[in-house]
Amino acid sequence: MRRPALLALAIALFAAPSFTAAQAVAANPRLDALKAEATREIDGKAKMIQEIIDQVYSFGELGFQEFETSKYLTGILEANGFTIERGVAGIPTAWVARWGNGKPVIALGSDLDGIPQSNQKPATAFRDWIVTGAPGHGEGHNSGQSVNIAAALVVKKIMEREKIPGTLMLWPGVAEEQLGTKAYLVRAGVFKDVDVNLFTHVGDDLATGWGNLPMLSMISAQFKFKGQSSHAAAAPWRGKSALDAVMLMGQGWEFHREHMELAQRSHYVITDGGDQPNVVPSTASIWFYFRERDYDRTMAMFEFAKKVAQGAALMTDTKLDTVVMVGSAWSGHFNRTVAEVMYQNIKKVGMPVWDENDQTLAKGIQRELGVPDSGLQSSPRSLRLMGPVNEATRMGGGSDDIGDVSWNVPTVTLNYPSNIPGMPGHNWANGIAMATPLAHKGVVAGAKVQAMTVLDILFTPKIVTDAWDYFNTVQTKTTKYVSFFAPTDQPAIWLNAEIMAKYRPEMKKFYYDPKKYPSYLDQLGIKYPVVRKTVQ
Ligand SMILES: [Zn+2]
Repeated sequence: MRRPALLALAIALFAAPSFTAAQAVAANPRLDALKAEATREIDGKAKMIQEIIDQVYSFGELGFQEFETSKYLTGILEANGFTIERGVAGIPTAWVARWGNGKPVIALGSDLDGIPQSNQKPATAFRDWIVTGAPGHGEGHNSGQSVNIAAALVVKKIMEREKIPGTLMLWPGVAEEQLGTKAYLVRAGVFKDVDVNLFTHVGDDLATGWGNLPMLSMISAQFKFKGQSSHAAAAPWRGKSALDAVMLMGQGWEFHREHMELAQRSHYVITDGGDQPNVVPSTASIWFYFRERDYDRTMAMFEFAKKVAQGAALMTDTKLDTVVMVGSAWSGHFNRTVAEVMYQNIKKVGMPVWDENDQTLAKGIQRELGVPDSGLQSSPRSLRLMGPVNEATRMGGGSDDIGDVSWNVPTVTLNYPSNIPGMPGHNWANGIAMATPLAHKGVVAGAKVQAMTVLDILFTPKIVTDAWDYFNTVQTKTTKYVSFFAPTDQPAIWLNAEIMAKYRPEMKKFYYDPKKYPSYLDQLGIKYPVVRKTVQ
């Protein structure tokens, strides 16, 4: 009976298209043992994880200005045997860290940058600055690299001992908030040898997904107008106000908004509105983010905006001086094979065990913000793999230039639970958990999933072949990547330099010193958590 049984099995294996990479992973006891070892090792790295999270939180650097952050992170990786390439793609704060040899090449990425004016005392459930007016981590990007570093170091140790071939490549999302660099990293060839890219982003859940997901493509562009100054009271008729052009462009866009498809998101700020009221502004600038579902629709928005700008210049007898695309992102498309493999690990790891203090902080900020005080969840919210969004009903949402990477190499994003549900995003409230035990535990969970998934890929060549099969025959079958940036465009590395120059000297006084203090909360003298008795 032995032979027919084997034959039947072989036929079943070859005939069944449903034999997935995730199932291939499931049948490997040696791999299971190493994954169990990796999760124990990650627990052993909890102190290192806490230090990295707290340190980067205290730097609070904005996009393109992540100098302290990048120096610190590459220092850790270098000390652990990684080879560092700095200033990648002409971006001073971008780097690539590599360790290992040969295939597969597994990339681990996460963002670095902060949010303007979101500086905030951690663990404090009401508005309380460390440095008033300064930037901070009101998005939680201080935590993602620690997920990857902890996972990489643990896997590296196993690879060395077990003599497993493969290359680990860590990389940063510089200036993600400006969508400023990932398309340039692609252009510079950073991902050309990569087999699988595992990205991490902070969230309030342990989750991943595949397909298009609710993410929009985006163009970030600055429009600068030139007019003519004059005495605003003595000779206003001699002046041509560039500010008038900026305001009319904004107005023109508002009238246009009525005629756009519902999925669009667009918003702007005036970055130069003149100097003082008695001088007719000779220069003025307005900065737009244009978001739509895909490349073509987003480009069409941008082209229409140029018409509106020209109209505004015509109405004010000023000139549209320059239009500079300073950022862009493709809407992401995430890899089905890799997401299915990662999802199995998410189920195994589960959510962290929250304690009374974690819940008190979460409920405190939820009450402060007037949202349901449900606290922190104890199991992944929906124990299912997020799948593609129906194109016909797809609506709005944010953007991330990981989209550009996802159209060049099989990519997934792991959301790990280091933040509190119900936060508004890009706000000081999104920073309060980000240097507390809550964030530290969330990263430990995320690092376990990341390390286990890297091991899966190292041990299961079918994951890489299936991932590329999906990438080539499904994802990119009809859609081909072309960057929003023109070949002559360059990274907007000047962005945020003035803001950081203004605040950095004061912020430096509050950089975390892990040699003196067990945690950043200890350094700041904050007793975890600080919550108001009654909401004001
Ligand atoms: Zn982000």
